[in-house]
Amino acid sequence: MTSAHGGSDVIDLRSDTVTQPTVGMRAAIANARVGDDALGDDPTVIELEERCADLLGTEAAIFCSTGTMSNQLALRAHTRPGDEVIIDSNSHIHYFESAPSTDLGRVSLHAVTTGTGSLAPAHVEDAVAAKPRGAHYAVPRAVCIENTAAFYGGAVVPLAELEALRSATSRLGLTTHLDGARLCNASVASGTPLHVYGSVADTLSMCFAKGLGAPFGSVLAGSSSLIDEARRFRKWYGGALHQAGFMAAAASYALDHHVDRLAEDHDNAWALAARIDGAAGLVVDSAVDSNMVMISLPTDVKETEFVEVARRRGVFVMAWSPGRVRAITHMGISGHDVREAADRLIRTAQELSASPPVEDDSLLAAWSAGRATE
Ligand SMILES: *Cc1c(COP(=O)(O)O)cnc(C)c1O
Repeated sequence: MTSAHGGSDVIDLRSDTVTQPTVGMRAAIANARVGDDALGDDPTVIELEERCADLLGTEAAIFCSTGTMSNQLALRAHTRPGDEVIIDSNSHIHYFESAPSTDLGRVSLHAVTTGTGSLAPAHVEDAVAAKPRGAHYAVPRAVCIENTAAFYGGAVVPLAELEALRSATSRLGLTTHLDGARLCNASVASGTPLHVYGSVADTLSMCFAKGLGAPFGSVLAGSSSLIDEARRFRKWYGGALHQAGFMAAAASYALDHHVDRLAEDHDNAWALAARIDGAAGLVVDSAVDSNMVMISLPTDVKETEFVEVARRRGVFVMAWSPGRVRAITHMGISGHDVREAADRLIRTAQELSASPPVEDDSLLAAWSAGRATE
């Protein structure tokens, strides 16, 4: 592949946001029919929003510039200032968006530890029961969930768990927002149609600029009343674009051409994990449900140093947490790239690690039995 960051030899596994628009997508952008979406008459945006509402099984949808904006509009639409939102501490809305959630969303995030990325009824019941809930306290109003769960290696949350959570939140009078930046990956990996996810949440967001390979765009879907609210706040936040049809055309093209092919990215992630797990002290330390591979490094290797040396060998990965890096497969990565990247990562570990290579693929064998069985 080629990359803006280097020569043709570079294999960029930092994120699925690094993709370049294809020739077909560039043509779709160039040829888009556009109007003024801030005035509500861009035909390509209207068509995309209707299509997304259909796909996700909701009444309405709104096109947004980023996943962060979709999430933040959802928080505003679901809550009143000062309300409490229950959420996994490692989800994007908590870990990366705690500042906007407080400053713009004006909510108090009640973070809980799930260890899996799947919020269970007990987590929510315990969070609600953690305080007496008199006038001193925030009112628990909504829960936020994520699928795939990025911090947990792109884990696909089983549908049965989402349904159980939905029953619990309904019983507790809480609404649900599903951050589905990579919901298409979850759908393709599990075989769950997108509209089924629409039945377990009041709003869902989905990104076009991740695995779907568009340069920009996200959508927030939900009931007409929640999406009307989101539309008001999108304007307030400066997110009402004018000829947004150019962006929507890229998103539509991605829905036409880049959803089914996500299975290829998942196979490539699996192949990458299988090649490196246990080699030269590298261990794939979470299940590979979708397009992410979380790699823990030999104990004497620092993640920042590993990233730097791997970069010099022409493979880009992201430092994730102490002793861990993350690799993501995407449209720009072929089966050949994966084999080459695995070899370079293994050589990087060998170069950096004083300890002898460990050969152990027992973990991976155990996972292969249970991979994406939902
Ligand atoms: C990337 C991502 C977002 C934010 O999307 P941006 O378009 O980068 O703002 C939100 N949630 C999850 C789970 C993500 O992976």
